[in-house]
Amino acid sequence: MVDLVQQYQSIREEVKASFDRILDNAQFINGPDVHEFANSLANYLGAKHVIPCANGTDALQIAMMALDLKPGDEVITPSFTYIATTEVVGLLRLKPVFVDVNPKTFNMEPSAIKKAITAKTKAIVPVHLYGQSCDMDAIWKIAKEYDLYIIEDNAQAIGSDYTTKSGKVMKTGTIGHIGCTSFFPSKNLGCYGDGGAISTNDDKLADKMRMIASHGQSKRYYHDLVGCNSRLDTLQAAVLNAKLKRLDSYIQARREAAKVYDDAFAAIKEIITPFRDPKSTHVFHQYTLQLADGVNRDEMVNYLAEQAIPSMIYYPVPAHKQKMFKTLETSCGDLSVTDDLTKRVISLPMHTELDSEQQTYIINHVKKFIQNG
Ligand SMILES: *Cc1c(COP(=O)(O)O)cnc(C)c1O
Repeated sequence: MVDLVQQYQSIREEVKASFDRILDNAQFINGPDVHEFANSLANYLGAKHVIPCANGTDALQIAMMALDLKPGDEVITPSFTYIATTEVVGLLRLKPVFVDVNPKTFNMEPSAIKKAITAKTKAIVPVHLYGQSCDMDAIWKIAKEYDLYIIEDNAQAIGSDYTTKSGKVMKTGTIGHIGCTSFFPSKNLGCYGDGGAISTNDDKLADKMRMIASHGQSKRYYHDLVGCNSRLDTLQAAVLNAKLKRLDSYIQARREAAKVYDDAFAAIKEIITPFRDPKSTHVFHQYTLQLADGVNRDEMVNYLAEQAIPSMIYYPVPAHKQKMFKTLETSCGDLSVTDDLTKRVISLPMHTELDSEQQTYIINHVKKFIQNG
C-alpha cells in the first residue's frame, strides 16, 4: 500500500546526519529537533501551538482529558473511522455517540450530528477521513449553537486546505478547538516509529495539554493534574523535520496518482471514484473506491493479491459493531450509510513513489477483474 523503502532513499543523507548528531549527543528525549519540529509544524499549519506527543491515539486522549469532561458526558464521533477515535472516548469513560457519514465524502453528516445532540453532549470529533476535510462550516454552526468543543481527528488529512464560507483558507487540524494528528509510518507525514501531535490556538488549552502530556507537571516534580507520559522522541522528530519540508511535494505526488486512477476508472460504472468536496483539497491518505452491487469485493481483493497488488478495506467493521463497546454505554443514530460503505469500499495502493508502470499494472488488473468477474 505504501513504499517507505523507496521514499527513504531521497532523504537518507539528511536523516542519517541528524541521527548521527543525536546519537553522538545522546539527546534522545526533548532534544532540539523536537522543538524545531513543533515550531515548523505550527508554522506549516498556521496554528499558534503544536504539542508533540507519542502517537495519534495519545493526541486524541490528551485533547479529551483537557476538556474537564465528566464520566457519561457524550462525545459525538463517526462510527466509520479508525478505532482510535472512538476508543479514547470509551477509555475516558465518556459516552461515544456514533453518527452516520455522507455517502459521497465518507465524512460525518452535519444533520446527523444535530439529531444526536442531548443535554449531555460536550464535544464533536470530526474525522477528516482518507484525506479530505469534513464540512467544518456546518459543524462549527452546530458547535456554537450548543456550546460544544470540536476536536479534529486530522490523522489522515494533514496538509489539507479547507475554505470556509467567508473565504478563509485553513489547514485541517486548526479549524476546531483542538486538532490531533498521527505520524505513524504510513501516514502522509510519517516517522520511523510512533509519533503524534496536538495543535490549538487556545493558550489555556495548550498549557493544559502540555502539562497532561508530561505527568501533569507545572514545573519539574510538581504534579498538578493526573496526566500521562507522552513524548515524541528526538530521532522521530528529526525524520519529521526532513519530511515536513517535503510534505507538499508528497501530497502533490499523491494527487497526481489519484488523477491517474480517476481517469482510468471514470468510464467503469461498477466503480465510484473518490468524490472531491469543493470546500476541501484532498491529500489522498487513501485512494478509496466504492464498488457497485454485484462486484464481489472479497474475490477482488484475492484476485489482486494473486497479481501481487495489495488492497485494503478501511474499515471492515465500523466502531458501533466492535466488541469493545458491548460493555460500554454508547448511543447510535441511523448508521445505514456506514453499514453500507463498510461493505463497498476498497482502497488501492497510494503513496509518493507510485510510478506509471505500477499504476498501469494495477489499473489493468482492476479493470480485468471488473470485466471478467
Ligand atoms: C492513524 C489514526 C489514528 C491513530 O494514530 P496512532 O498514531 O496510530 O495512534 C487516529 N485516527 C485516525 C483516523 C487514524 O487514521
